[in-house]
Amino acid sequence: MALKDYCFDGKKPLKLKEMPTGAGEYKVQKSDLVAKTEENMLRAAELQEKLYAAKQEGLIFALQARDAAGKDSLIKKIFSKLNPAALKITSFKVPNKTDLAHDYMWRINRAMPERGSIGVFNRSHYEDVLVVQVHQMQKGYVLTPRCKTEDFFARRYRQLNNWEEYLWENGFRMVKIFLNVSKEEQKQRFLDRMELPEKHWKLSVGDMQERALWEEYDRVFEETINATATEHAPWYVLPADNKWYTRYLMSEIILKTLEDMAPEFPPLDAEEAAKIPMVMQELEKE
Ligand code: ATP
Repeated sequence: MALKDYCFDGKKPLKLKEMPTGAGEYKVQKSDLVAKTEENMLRAAELQEKLYAAKQEGLIFALQARDAAGKDSLIKKIFSKLNPAALKITSFKVPNKTDLAHDYMWRINRAMPERGSIGVFNRSHYEDVLVVQVHQMQKGYVLTPRCKTEDFFARRYRQLNNWEEYLWENGFRMVKIFLNVSKEEQKQRFLDRMELPEKHWKLSVGDMQERALWEEYDRVFEETINATATEHAPWYVLPADNKWYTRYLMSEIILKTLEDMAPEFPPLDAEEAAKIPMVMQELEKE
């Protein structure tokens, strides 16, 4: 499969059950793809420097996944290869009282990177249509009845599309990633968390209980992605059973997005340029 086959930008519908969760035929090329990942990220870091210097556009990657799909390790192994000075990583946990007292985009807006920087959202505004929908949490919200309508989530899809279009029109790009892990691989990773002392800290009984809702999550992920896949804010549905393969695909997406943005170092300001001969003379006299 080519990178475009993992991409959903509103032109084709996603059928989640038809998407691969593993590396498949690419397993034989593992060492080549691991090397290509390194190369991609070196090139991406060069482009990131131009993005930072130009400050014309900002970029956000929103990572969504089931538990143990590998969001954290993707950040550790891939995004860590970018310049941390121009990288803003934010994890979105269960909203606290203050978050819930505001509209759901409030905490997201506060985490936005500046133009010139790259933001990584470890979970994102999409939790507000994913976990909230699966558990029907909106029913318990303290909220005026006129906002608790039958089409609560259809409204939210529209709001998310409007917000992402607004960002696009204001110099920001949003790229959304769904790490698609299989039920078998998730089970194995949970077992590792139970058996290996160095992984005990990641153990959460609540995460395991979510497995019972696997089919409902499937339905809601598919519906959400189909409702919010647009050309300027696409989704990528990445196989997540083989971490090295997910990392390779992620490096391709980062590189491709930065190449599409095509940042360039800004030219020297005319006033500054006029001062250069004088300053050079001064330096040579030292
Ligand atoms: P890991 O994947 O490494 O275990 P995590 O992202 O699951 O880390 P946790 O603190 O274990 O981190 O989980 C965060 C929890 O917060 C998730 O269960 C997620 O669904 C929940 N959450 C995030 N945003 C919202 C939201 N807007 N409404 C309700 N729950 C949310």
